[in-house]
Amino acid sequence: MQHDDTKAHGLLRLLTQGLLTHAEHKTANELGDRSLYIGMSDIGKGMECTRAAVASKLGMSAIPAASGVGDLALDDLTHTLGRQVILQRGHWQEHGIERALTATGVKLVPQLEISIEHSGVPIKAHLDFTLIWGGQRPAVRILELKSNERIPDSLYASYEAQLYGQVGLLKACWGESCFSVPETELQAVTFPQAALALFGVGLPDSPDNVDIEAWVLSISLSEVRPFGPYMPEEGMLDVCLQTAVAIWRAAEDVRSGNLALNDLDYCRGFHPLCDWCDVNADCPKFQAMNIPSDSACGLELEELAMLKERKATLEGRIAEAEERIKQTYRLVGGQDWLSNGDHRFRVANVAGRRTLDRSLVVDKLTVLIGDDRKAQKALEQCEKAGNPHERLYVSKIKRPLKSAA
Ligand code: SF4
Repeated sequence: MQHDDTKAHGLLRLLTQGLLTHAEHKTANELGDRSLYIGMSDIGKGMECTRAAVASKLGMSAIPAASGVGDLALDDLTHTLGRQVILQRGHWQEHGIERALTATGVKLVPQLEISIEHSGVPIKAHLDFTLIWGGQRPAVRILELKSNERIPDSLYASYEAQLYGQVGLLKACWGESCFSVPETELQAVTFPQAALALFGVGLPDSPDNVDIEAWVLSISLSEVRPFGPYMPEEGMLDVCLQTAVAIWRAAEDVRSGNLALNDLDYCRGFHPLCDWCDVNADCPKFQAMNIPSDSACGLELEELAMLKERKATLEGRIAEAEERIKQTYRLVGGQDWLSNGDHRFRVANVAGRRTLDRSLVVDKLTVLIGDDRKAQKALEQCEKAGNPHERLYVSKIKRPLKSAA
């Protein structure tokens, strides 16, 4: 079949414009003007990199406005579309998960907002889902959804900070008029008032005897994994609030010209956030010697980056194909080898990798020795560090978008 490239690109442009417009409306409706407060995701980012958090607070984004899509060059259009799909698939999943949870009859509040002021800094938390149970043993569960390409082995520090901030605020503000439920008249009410008005559920005036936990649901295209529970901890909430104040003050200083963005602290060493960061082009972390792109080394670097991108695409396709073949094997009731031309296939059960749970070992040793510091020390004495080795990092620089003209 013949492809009409112009029409295909027109379709991509239309879709990109739609996704960007939808994102702009959704942010305005659900989160309001994000430059007017510090949110939990700002705090999470700020705990990893102050420079990145302040830049995003100042609206320094590499995402083009929906109205500018018509001017984007094709490679920028493709990149923008890909990024929007990654960013927005979490919202699509959120919609499905909300319907599934609602179908169970559980009492659920989507996008509950907690709004406070701390040391003169406006701070807001938007909770994806808040589940409420009343009665003799009242309980509240916060669920935060994270859409991941692959489910991580452990939770990122920025996600954990968000959770501690949310659950800490819920408990600390329980009886204060800090809660708002979107698309209702429930604005600036206490948490028990919201539960009563929404579901007729009576909750105690104090959260002390309420079972409160927060969880993250990490969702990939074929898997869901819960991480938690995260309990309200005063110390962790304090750290979150201090981070919020630090981001706000730093943003004010940069806005008023007292500080430059590059004066701010940034995360050292290798960090996955840097590849996604909107302000990585001129980050002092990468103050690099410029290598001419037509030099031998420059050409080799370009080729390496391209090969790595292809490798990532291939790995994704291999993983998908493996999953399909495994499914077919199960469907045909495969017990032994299946052969096809020059290849044989078999799905076998392989024993899981054995790993040591460090905190469990410390707990067990503490019980045996009776002293947790000695247990910790004993474990450290048994640890072996591998030899240092070289690693080559290649990451994408976010250049200003090019015009289609
Ligand atoms: S590139 Fe990395 S270090 Fe620099 S601001 Fe962005 S996240 Fe921080």
